[in-house]
Amino acid sequence: MRQPYRTTTVCFQVDPQHPDPRPIARAGATIRAGGLVAFPTETVYGLGANALDSTAVEKIFRAKGRPANDPLIVHIADLSQLSHLAVSVSEIAYRLFKRFAPGALTLVLNKREAVPANLTAGMDTVAVRMPDHAVALALIDAAGRPIAAPSANRFSRPSPTTAQHVAHDLDGRVDIILDGGPTSIGLESTILSLLGDAPQVLRPGGVSLEALREIVPDLTYQPQYLPDDAAAPSPGSMLKHYSPRATVILFRGDDDEAIWAAMKTFAKNHDHVGLLALEKDATRIADLDVEVESLGVDLDAAATRLFSALRSLDSRGVEWILARLPDTTGVGLAIGDRLLRAAEGVVIDVKPRR
Ligand code: AMP
Ligand code: MG
Repeated sequence: MRQPYRTTTVCFQVDPQHPDPRPIARAGATIRAGGLVAFPTETVYGLGANALDSTAVEKIFRAKGRPANDPLIVHIADLSQLSHLAVSVSEIAYRLFKRFAPGALTLVLNKREAVPANLTAGMDTVAVRMPDHAVALALIDAAGRPIAAPSANRFSRPSPTTAQHVAHDLDGRVDIILDGGPTSIGLESTILSLLGDAPQVLRPGGVSLEALREIVPDLTYQPQYLPDDAAAPSPGSMLKHYSPRATVILFRGDDDEAIWAAMKTFAKNHDHVGLLALEKDATRIADLDVEVESLGVDLDAAATRLFSALRSLDSRGVEWILARLPDTTGVGLAIGDRLLRAAEGVVIDVKPRR
């Protein structure tokens, strides 16, 4: 069994738009020296290491307790860095990067030999993205090399959207945390592979399928929810992920009244129940003894708040977390995906009441 990576963690506050160059320079030097730096992006906080140094990359897996078969995403600050990572990058990949980089789109490309095998879990492909965040871009520039970075949480915990979440999960396992405040999108990037027969979304995320289809009309997406011990045909599709301690129960259906009646019945029959709901719905079962976390006014707000609301309900000691599965349009697809993994697939289908 691998030993966890141990170090002393220091945290620096940085302005998210105009980061002070001093902590950035120090963090860049830490990356070059083979250390770990957690940093904000527009999606979630990343746990970064020099992508071209296999020993540094290994520290990421050790710090997170991440299985070796789950590959990392490499972050770049400029498209010219693609040539250090990937070969035979297609015309369509460049068009997608032109439209969506910097942004929440990750492309799976053919890897260059210099990319360490542990980073890609032994595959001959590498996932690459350019984050849309001044701190992340400044850090990559200061390091002078691409940075491998999965989400800066312990494996299978909800992803971190604040520096406090990072410190909670990784204090003593990351050299530097750059605190740039809460992340704006709050869900991970969309991962798209252009290498198979048809362009395929491997994970829905911050860029919607609708937006991608403007450039790639023949895009496909086949949700995969695999039990943990299954051999995953696409890495990282394990069912249990983003999990709070409490058990998450999802309710699915079109009939509003029937959904809330079903949730009420559940809340009446169980103790220590928490509820995740949009602001307009948050009072629906508030007359019961339920801990409520509002997800805000719409699905964009819900994306931003989802992971932190899961962590917050955990810290409030609930045993059950109830939530409604959103429509699959726009960011609803990615929210539903994260909720399904947090619930490990447990969904109650609620019939209309007529
Ligand atoms: P994280 O950065 O923790 O959100 O996870 C990164 C995810 O990117 C992994 O779990 C995989 O699903 C995906 N990924 C990374 N590299 C590849 C690759 N070469 N091929 C397919 N998927 C990848
Ligand atoms: Mg992750």
